[in-house]
Amino acid sequence: SYRKGGYHAVRIGDSFSGGRYIAQRKLGWGEFSTVWLAYDTRSSEYVALKIQKSAPQFAQAAVHEIEVLSAIADGDPSNSKYVVRLIDHFKHTGPNGQHSCMVLEFLGDSLLRLVKHIRYKGLELDKVREICKCILTGLDYLHRGLGIIHTDLKLENVLLLTTINATKDPIRSGTSPILERPEGIPNGGATMNIIEKKLKQRARRAAARISGRRASMGGVGGGAKTNRSLNGIDLRCKVVDFGNACWADKQFAQEIQTRQYRSPEVILQSGYSFSADMWSFACIAFELATGEMMFTPKGGQGFSEDEDHLAMMMELLGKIPRKIANGGARSKDYFDRYGDLKRIRRLKYGSLEKLLIDKYCFSEIDALEFAKFLCPLLDFEPENRPNAQQCLQHPWLSIKSLNQAEVKSESGMEKVNVGMRNLQMKAGK
Ligand code: ADP
Ligand code: MG
Repeated sequence: SYRKGGYHAVRIGDSFSGGRYIAQRKLGWGEFSTVWLAYDTRSSEYVALKIQKSAPQFAQAAVHEIEVLSAIADGDPSNSKYVVRLIDHFKHTGPNGQHSCMVLEFLGDSLLRLVKHIRYKGLELDKVREICKCILTGLDYLHRGLGIIHTDLKLENVLLLTTINATKDPIRSGTSPILERPEGIPNGGATMNIIEKKLKQRARRAAARISGRRASMGGVGGGAKTNRSLNGIDLRCKVVDFGNACWADKQFAQEIQTRQYRSPEVILQSGYSFSADMWSFACIAFELATGEMMFTPKGGQGFSEDEDHLAMMMELLGKIPRKIANGGARSKDYFDRYGDLKRIRRLKYGSLEKLLIDKYCFSEIDALEFAKFLCPLLDFEPENRPNAQQCLQHPWLSIKSLNQAEVKSESGMEKVNVGMRNLQMKAGK
């Protein structure tokens, strides 16, 4: 892909926008772009530099993404809405053509990395709640504030404000960004020396924090649901990747969303709105809490991936009402006139609550409360789903688990893991 019309090849130390940004290292890449950690010499801060492929369709997509990101930034001057911030944008000409570049605030690991990090075991529900609140605040702003549908919510597109494994990334760890000496900056001048001293100090403090955290973790861990190394990590996060976003009243694509997070109305082509994001949000919350995707459909002999997906939805959430099943442009491909799937005849009905207990070893109370939170978001009738604002009011978000009890021992206050997954203090109920 590093050819005419494709990615721009970047070397560490390369400068952009008349020398303002200096490439430090690669952060990630997508179908459309590569993303680089860059040092902003004007603000003395690290930023994420997204360099789009140069072919016209990618340039066009970048214009759109910049338009959406600009609306997001303009509507939230204090940057408090848990959505990624566009700092700057410009064009950069290289051997492969002219590339649109977006300068974004520098964020940490994706939720996918987080779930992998704890080996797909599922996060403690308190952590899930923290993350859900951020995503919902972001969605409420996008939906009600701006009229924007994200259309591609998934774990990869929500980034933490921090990096999980601080030892691997000295630049950003714990709860605040830690700077090291940026690459490609001429070393000299009094200002630089002061900055350098500060950077070294911060790096040393970070190192001390990390080793302290390790020491305090000794002896803990190993249990099926034990959270090994998320202690003390601030799990705030932001929604990113607006390459596919649209305005509710100006939609482009009929087929939106990544397969596993796709809503039934999109599969059936019955029209979609903000509530399609709410479906994906529920899929994310489930995946965070269990470590596994809610739906992983596969095509089979005599039926398609779409049909498998619809079958899985019904097995977990109940039968799709006939009016909805038969209400989409593609309904006839999948359903007969009674609202039964044409090619997958025998369904094994279960429930979300039962799945959480049987497969994911949730306590009955945890399963009941979590299912009560998720099920309304997974209503087959999109208009019945709560919006992000209503969802933020849900009592499940204010429950506090008693996983760690503070007990007074003879040696003073000590935190003891008493494994009280079942003991719940229910707030707001
Ligand atoms: P694409 O539109 O090409 O899919 P994305 O916006 O999804 O590009 O970015 C690709 C990857 O780059 C992300 O998965 C993530 O790893 C990394 N990335 C994107 N934006 C940021 C950011 N603001 N801070 C840190 N990393 C980022
Ligand atoms: Mg992407």
